[in-house]
Amino acid sequence: MHTLPAVTEPLTTKSRSEMIEITKLVQRHVQINRVTDGMVIVYVPHTTAAVTINENADPDVKHDLLRKLDALIPKAETYYQHGEGNSDSHLKTSMLGNSVTVLIERGKLILGTWQGIQFCEFDGPRTRSVLIKIVSFDRPTSD
Ligand code: ZN
Repeated sequence: MHTLPAVTEPLTTKSRSEMIEITKLVQRHVQINRVTDGMVIVYVPHTTAAVTINENADPDVKHDLLRKLDALIPKAETYYQHGEGNSDSHLKTSMLGNSVTVLIERGKLILGTWQGIQFCEFDGPRTRSVLIKIVSFDRPTSD
C-alpha cells in the first residue's frame, strides 16, 4: 500500500447554496496516477461547504435536497448567536459531512449507476477547495 500526496482542486461556486458534481474531476486523478486498486478520500476543508454522494442524473434531486435542507434549517432563528449570520450554513455542513471515501477497482471509481460525488456549497458564492487523497493498493512501480 502507498499513498499519494493530497491534491487541492479549486472550485468556484455561483450561488449561496448549490451542489456541483465532481465525480469526473476525482476520476481524472485516479487515471493520471494510474491507480487500478485502492481508494480515494475526497475532503472539503471548509466549515460551510460539504461533500456527499448522491444522484448524478436527475438535477431535480439536487433541487429537492437543497430545498428540504432550507426548510429543516432556516437561515434565521431567534436563538442563533453566531455573529457571521451563517449558522444555517454551518449546520448543513455538519449534517452532510466533510469527506467521502470511494473505492477504486480496475482503475475506476466504484459508484452505483446513479451515484455521483457532489460538492455542496452552503455559503457561496465563493472560491472553494476540494482535497483529493488517493491510497493505492497497487505494487509501486520500480521506475
Ligand atoms: Zn460562520
